[in-house]
Amino acid sequence: MGDATEHSDSRAPRGGDPPLAFKRLFVVPGVAITLAEAAAVVWPALALFDLPPEVRAPLSRAAIPLAAGALAIWFASIAAWLHPVQRAVAVRRRGEPLPKPLASRAYRATFRAPLRVLLLRVGLWAVVSAIAGAALVRAGAWGPRDVGHLVGMVCLHAFAVNLGRAAWYGAILRSVRERLFPEATRMRVFADGYFGRLALVALGVAGGASAAASAFVYFFVRLPREQFLELQALLPLGVGGATAALVGLARYWTRPIDRYLRDDGGEPTRVYRRAQELPYRLALATIGLWAAAAAAITVTARYTMDLDSDDAVLLFGVTVVLAVGAALYQALWHRETMRPLLAHLTVRHRLPLRRLRSSLSLRAKLLTSFGGVVAFACGLALLWGFIQYKNLVTGFVGRQAELGMAWLRSEVQAAIASAAEPPTPAAVERVLLAADAATPARNAVVYFEPTDVGARPFALGGGPMGAPRLPWYARARMRLGGDGPLEVGSLGLTGVHGRLRVQWRGEAYDLGAIAVLFPAYSGRGPSIERPLKELLVFFVVLFGVCGGIAVLTVREFVQPVRELQQRADAMARGELAKPVTSSGESDEIGRLTFALEEMRRALGEKLRSTEEVNLDLERAVQRRTADLAKKNRELAETLEKLTRAQSQLVRSEKMASIGQLVAGIAHEINNPVNAIVNTVGPLDDAIAALGDVPEADEMRQMIRVIQRGANRTKDIVRALHNYSRTDDESVVDVDLNRSLDDSLELLRHLLKGGIRVERSYGDVGRIRGHAGQLNQVFMNLLTNAAQAVAHTDGAEIRVSTDATPDAVVVRVSDNGPGIPPDVLPRIFDPFFTTKDVGEGTGLGLSIVHGIVERHGGTIEVDSAPGKGTTFTVTLPRGDVGAYAQSGSGTA
Ligand code: ADP
Repeated sequence: MGDATEHSDSRAPRGGDPPLAFKRLFVVPGVAITLAEAAAVVWPALALFDLPPEVRAPLSRAAIPLAAGALAIWFASIAAWLHPVQRAVAVRRRGEPLPKPLASRAYRATFRAPLRVLLLRVGLWAVVSAIAGAALVRAGAWGPRDVGHLVGMVCLHAFAVNLGRAAWYGAILRSVRERLFPEATRMRVFADGYFGRLALVALGVAGGASAAASAFVYFFVRLPREQFLELQALLPLGVGGATAALVGLARYWTRPIDRYLRDDGGEPTRVYRRAQELPYRLALATIGLWAAAAAAITVTARYTMDLDSDDAVLLFGVTVVLAVGAALYQALWHRETMRPLLAHLTVRHRLPLRRLRSSLSLRAKLLTSFGGVVAFACGLALLWGFIQYKNLVTGFVGRQAELGMAWLRSEVQAAIASAAEPPTPAAVERVLLAADAATPARNAVVYFEPTDVGARPFALGGGPMGAPRLPWYARARMRLGGDGPLEVGSLGLTGVHGRLRVQWRGEAYDLGAIAVLFPAYSGRGPSIERPLKELLVFFVVLFGVCGGIAVLTVREFVQPVRELQQRADAMARGELAKPVTSSGESDEIGRLTFALEEMRRALGEKLRSTEEVNLDLERAVQRRTADLAKKNRELAETLEKLTRAQSQLVRSEKMASIGQLVAGIAHEINNPVNAIVNTVGPLDDAIAALGDVPEADEMRQMIRVIQRGANRTKDIVRALHNYSRTDDESVVDVDLNRSLDDSLELLRHLLKGGIRVERSYGDVGRIRGHAGQLNQVFMNLLTNAAQAVAHTDGAEIRVSTDATPDAVVVRVSDNGPGIPPDVLPRIFDPFFTTKDVGEGTGLGLSIVHGIVERHGGTIEVDSAPGKGTTFTVTLPRGDVGAYAQSGSGTA
């Protein structure tokens, strides 16, 4: 079944495609199938029914208008059915869009035509043969029974031949449909056509199997012609009934499928199950229904036409065996029909196929198929053996009968030739009676049917009971003339019949028909027992051996496939460790196993490398994370330092502006203070000149207070002035002792509260340097010392200066807690501090270090925990010019 949508791209639906000229496709096969019909229907009819010469001419004259009428009906019907298709093709060729009603009629016609063609053709043959038969009845040549035989046989043969026609029509119309309606989806086409296909396949198989059954009976069972014809009339009835019942069952069983196709109703799993089982159900039903039909036909034949019981069993057996074969074919074709639906259901609903484990496993399917084949073949072999045996026995009896017949003929001829009168039936009777006791006709039953209508027929032999009456068909056969075998199954007799022609005085006389019959092979009794047993044993052994082979072969297929499926499932779950065991053979399954094993290995390697990559990645990520954390920490530290530096800078900026302010104020205050200081001396003198004024002492005292205050103010102003000298850029001669004093003066507030300050200044003279920066060095050292001794009892700070030939050594000592050894190496680092936030910035000593270094000096620290700390600064007197240059260079 092609997918209609597949063609939509490659073949344009319009524009006059040459393949759309479909009518001519019917012609050649149509003619061929019609010739086949003539061969398979007309010829057997003529051969089986010996028509009396007097009716042949009128019958053949009547045949022409009959055939013409049938053909007219045929062509008219075909044209009517295919008319919508033809019109749709024409519309498409013109490139116009199809009108909806026409499209739907044409679409339906493509599905319906094949079955209609089959039924119409068979119906026409039935009507034609019935009319011909009726004409023969009217002419007095036939009885009604003969008409039934004729119609039955014609229907059966016509049906078998026209199955081919229906299949051919179906193929043409399918391709026309695909081109006319490329937009019809695969499921739509399936929904519209699948049941027709099921029915057509069922009918086809039925037709084929019944043709095979009648051919088998005709060629092998060798029924008498009349019985065979009767059977041919019964067979279509039985098979037709069985097929109708089968189609009815199919209608019933496909109801869930139809509901799903119509409106998506029902559970997809159930629909799937039903679609999957349908072919097998129908196959089983075929076997059952056919067995029932065969039983009905056999029983009917046994009682209405005296069918020999052996032949009845044979007939039944053949039909059942053929039903098995038919069922196998049917199942295969039905499976193909249902496949699109199964594929659609699994794809559309994502059915979990693994959970749909049906009773129809691969093993069951294979066993059913192989079992059916074995049963079919062995059954046919059994029947064949039985028939051969029977024919052998019958043939032997027939030889004996022929001998008896020849002997009787010569006896009669001898007696007649010597007689004085012309021969009569009575004379024949006398001769036969005389010959009865003699060999080789002994034990034979002899029947004589005189030509003379007035004379009575008679029979001889048959022992004390006398000869039994011949049945109608045997007598008819004898009377119809000719020589040949004669079998009377109902009487258990077989033999030959022939004409009794004699010569008397040169003249020929046809006296009548004579038959010599012997007890036939009967199928019963001790003589048959042994061969029958042998045959049955042979059958059982054959069946067992073949069945065993089938079972083993199926196992060999199914077992590895199952294992492979389980391994694949396990691999899908990720169990890749266990290797896929191979059968070691290089057949398809072996190769599949190898392929799976390769796949497992490749997957395992991929997975391993992926895991390694993952591990590497993880490691790298960990490394990076650690790095980042470290950087983060460093950043946080730097940020903190920066924050502190910022506040320090802010402070220095403040200090600088304060310095400027202080310098301005000091400058402004300097003059009035000088004025006061300069005025106080003369004022004192003036008071002394006043003499002993009572208030003079008091006034002198006040003047001394003013003098002290003014001097003190003058000191502070000078200190401020020195400290905040703004000529920092310039190198000057600095008096370090005074610088230390100024610093101490400014730090008075810190040094209050019982801190003893001891100064021991040497005669150090001056050094060249930046006065403000050196002030800052001492301020910082003194501040640290003051802060260190803040909580020390008997706090003491010693400041000393010593001169060396080319440097000045300044020492600042305290008796504070000292610096722990682990802190000592870091005190000059910028931002290193052990003090609380706000109290220290950690910049003091680093600035000191920088300044001292810039002055070409050194700074050393000596600290004993618990005892105190001494900072020793050595400042060279220096080469002023060089230092000034480098100092300004780095500023
Ligand atoms: P700050 O004084 O702002 O903390 P410094 O650079 O001036 O920064 O000092 C660094 C550290 O050295 C101080 O925090 C302190 O621990 C230590 N230190 C400096 N001078 C002394 C001292 N005279 N006695 C004890 N410890 C000191």
